[in-house]
Amino acid sequence: MMRLPWFDYRAPRSVAEAAKILAAEGPQAMLVAGGTDLLPNMKRRHQSPSTLVSLRQVEGLKKISNGSGLTLGAGLTLTAVVQEARTQPYRGLRQAAAQVATPHLRNMGTLGGNLCLDTRCTYYNQNYEWRKAIDFCMKADGDICWVATASKRCLAVSSTDTAPALISLGARVKFFSTAGERELPLADLYKNDGIDYLARKPGEILTEVLLPKNEGWKSTYWKLRRRGSFDFPVLGVAAAVKTSPDGTVEDARLVLGAVSSHPLTIDVQKILVGKKLADEIIEKVAGLAESRAKPMDNTDLDLRWRKHVVGDFVGYALRELRGDDMSATRLRTARQVL
Ligand SMILES: Cc1cc2nc3c(=O)[nH]c(=O)nc-3n(C[C@H](O)[C@H](O)[C@H](O)COP(=O)(O)OP(=O)(O)OC[C@H]3O[C@@H](n4cnc5c(N)ncnc54)[C@H](O)[C@@H]3O)c2cc1C
Ligand code: SF4
Repeated sequence: MMRLPWFDYRAPRSVAEAAKILAAEGPQAMLVAGGTDLLPNMKRRHQSPSTLVSLRQVEGLKKISNGSGLTLGAGLTLTAVVQEARTQPYRGLRQAAAQVATPHLRNMGTLGGNLCLDTRCTYYNQNYEWRKAIDFCMKADGDICWVATASKRCLAVSSTDTAPALISLGARVKFFSTAGERELPLADLYKNDGIDYLARKPGEILTEVLLPKNEGWKSTYWKLRRRGSFDFPVLGVAAAVKTSPDGTVEDARLVLGAVSSHPLTIDVQKILVGKKLADEIIEKVAGLAESRAKPMDNTDLDLRWRKHVVGDFVGYALRELRGDDMSATRLRTARQVL
């Protein structure tokens, strides 16, 4: 049995109190929300913080409010995000959140924790003894990358489902620390670096996700994973389009998950804006996405096949946004991949 290392546990009741504790404890302290990612990681000794600052009792992080769009507290569970009536117009987010892990994990796991999820790699998500047997790797305790031995940076994979969906919806995020409040586009939170993957400053707490109004927009999220019941994504495709009443695209966003150390935004506006979602236009976008995706050999399933199906999944997403009935394809792709 893998045991947790020893740590002090603090349970503040407000964001300000949590920020004070973080500032006083310094880099040895870590935030924990649902703990569904951090606690298994601590058991594998990926992280061994001396203090855990729990956000579970911070009620202020569990609020939902309407402003010019929708504001979601970072402490909302993924189940709450899926069940909340006001998230209905943001279909891509709901679909992404509903496909994270299992019902039990979604009841514990939070939106903030999902957005700050550690990057993943076959050579890293192993127990301490396994990692020691290969002399560790650059991401923790070692100095080589086993995926690309000449690589100067870690290529671990961004595996959050909700980040691509929220970026495609134009979301922004708010942080709070003892230095004050900061707001930035969610896309700018991520860095293409498997170790230093977040542009989160020391002591900052993710407090809110701000979604803009989305009249005229339609969004969707398609996920590839080995087991349809639960699994981290080996590909996530988040697409959102704004169309005029005659179906002409006015704006569009496409973001890929699990093919890079950060959610990968594909610049599709030049191809899509001013056009209708005709088959040949969809094929162009699919081809572009497939060429831009550079999956590495550090997650489940065959590398070349994973790159190839990027185009297929982008096609499914765009055809669904065009109004095609894609339910049979969804069912087929959600089944186990053998
Ligand atoms: C079996 C299994 C399957 C899983 N499958 C998936 C999957 O398919 N897709 C997926 O996306 N995830 C998956 N996960 C990972 C995890 O369950 C989810 O990502 C979950 O949403 C994490 O949220 P949490 O609140 O539990 O995060 P925690 O584990 O509490 O925290 C995760 C990280 O975020 C930081 N953090 C948490 N809240 C904040 C905040 N407010 N501000 C700043 N930093 C913060 C923590 O310090 C930590 O570094 C899986 C996990 C397991 C165990
Ligand atoms: S990509 Fe390389 S450095 Fe990063 S976790 Fe995997 S093996 Fe380690």
